[in-house]
Amino acid sequence: MVDRISKILISNRGEIAVRIIRTCRKLGIRTVAIYTNVDANALHVKLADETYSLGSNPYSYLDIEKIISIAKKSGVDAVHPGYGFLSENAKFAKTVEDSGIIWIGPKWNLIELLESKSRTRLIAHEIGVPIVPGSLEPVSLTEAKKIAEKLGFPVLIKADRGGGGRGIRIVRSMEELERLFDVAIEEIKTSFGSDKVYIEKYIPRPRHIEVQILADQHGNVIALGERECSVQRRYQKVIEEAPSPVVTEEERRKIYEYAIRFMKRVGYVNAGTVEFIRDDQGNYYLIEVNKRIQVEHPVTEMITGIDIVEQQIRIAEGRELEIKESIYRFNGHAIEARVYAEDPEKLLPSPGTVTWVEFPKTEHVRIDHALAPGIEIPPYYDPLIAKVIAWGRTREEARTRLIKALTEFKVEGIKTSIPLLIDVLSSPEFIEGRVHTEFMNEFIRSRMQRKE
Ligand code: ADP
Repeated sequence: MVDRISKILISNRGEIAVRIIRTCRKLGIRTVAIYTNVDANALHVKLADETYSLGSNPYSYLDIEKIISIAKKSGVDAVHPGYGFLSENAKFAKTVEDSGIIWIGPKWNLIELLESKSRTRLIAHEIGVPIVPGSLEPVSLTEAKKIAEKLGFPVLIKADRGGGGRGIRIVRSMEELERLFDVAIEEIKTSFGSDKVYIEKYIPRPRHIEVQILADQHGNVIALGERECSVQRRYQKVIEEAPSPVVTEEERRKIYEYAIRFMKRVGYVNAGTVEFIRDDQGNYYLIEVNKRIQVEHPVTEMITGIDIVEQQIRIAEGRELEIKESIYRFNGHAIEARVYAEDPEKLLPSPGTVTWVEFPKTEHVRIDHALAPGIEIPPYYDPLIAKVIAWGRTREEARTRLIKALTEFKVEGIKTSIPLLIDVLSSPEFIEGRVHTEFMNEFIRSRMQRKE
């Protein structure tokens, strides 16, 4: 059955809300924006067809009741949650569906299932998709010690429902495990409202490789290529690219097969990402499944020509995917740099008012942002203010274009991470594609030492 979607509420803000509006306009779909008082002048509010205030509480983007009542009042057919906020909240997805509104994402019960990383691991293990060695369910300290003994140190204590790089703690000895286990649980309880943790072997200096999946309601599941997101700080992605400079054709077939096998097993529908880490021997281990659009989706769009948000909407309408085969041939290379409102030296957030913006003029560069002079960058939200994505026929062309674009990008009134991004993109390790998930932390440490 095809339900034509003609009006969408976007339960998000910032660059992703603006990016969703862009596709809706292209498709002739009306948009409804929601905003808190601090965001009254935000770009997503200016660009949407209809806007509704959530009031003065800056955290109301998490207020399910309020958002549902706006969705009903405005008569939308569907809700697009973007990423972050309520995008992976099973209760929100269920409430949307129970209100007779289409949820642009996987079904709520699947969100609930995959929210548990240990359940995800168990399913992968049962169907023969490799996972990082470790526990197959949440553990107590006694169990953790037994498993760590077998695995050997270091191991990671991970929050079962963690996300965004938070809730991961490395322990290097039995003594540390004993000392930090309860501390880790306390931290996790406050951040994620669950005290469940599991134990995983620490893979030294892995690369983060993920597969973008599209799955429709008719059983078609395809892969749109991989993205490499190894340039990370504190387990959070900073620079992403597609294709990965290390993934061979053979490896690509293997990870596509793993990702599709997993998604078919759980009956996944809509866009999703299966994340892996790759060790230096070329072994892949599934680490988690993201049940939403990813921040770094533009690099995939640039080398495939596919608008992932459009696909999400078409899938939610009940249409069959037009492309039925996974993609193995890409058009060139794309690299994305996340620009944060932060002091590039002290690495601390830098909220404030943007007084001036000058966008890059380099060709083949896409900028996903929510910036304009006079716009407020509030301290309450993720400090991501823009993503600069450069395309090139080769990786080197994309890289040099990205540096040029970042050099031309001027944002005044607040500090941004642009200088740090340029330094990383100019490093021999990045140029040669010799990156791993510890690279940026090490890079920052040696940069600081150089400056001392
Ligand atoms: P989150 O959901 O918080 O993003 P993930 O499980 O996806 O957490 O892991 C985030 C990052 O943490 C990975 O990209 C990788 O850099 C690092 N990481 C996760 N698991 C391991 C592991 N077993 N060994 C080494 N690094 C890991």
